[in-house]
Amino acid sequence: MLIDVPDDLIVDRISLRLTCAGCGAIYHMTSHPPASPGICDSCGGELEQRSDDNAGAIRKRFETYRNDVQPVIELYMDAGRLLTIDGTSPPADVYRSLKDVTMNR
Ligand SMILES: [Zn+2]
Repeated sequence: MLIDVPDDLIVDRISLRLTCAGCGAIYHMTSHPPASPGICDSCGGELEQRSDDNAGAIRKRFETYRNDVQPVIELYMDAGRLLTIDGTSPPADVYRSLKDVTMNR
């Protein structure tokens, strides 16, 4: 199963992600911001960004991913066994697509 998302969108999603140091809740600076900047809506904890969630580090992670995973993707693709879903939609839609694909196999 491949959840297909363009690199630029992944960089946007990760580099603008904020995590609560208290409860682990996840926010996004533009698509899911907290009510008060830097403060968790759930527990009032401080929101922080992971040190490796910057564009340079993310692109480095792509490189590792491509080296390790791309050969496996190609193997399944060549065998006609790769299931791909569009990962650019909102999470609920991606979840629905995942369910549809796995239920109808
Ligand atoms: Zn919290």
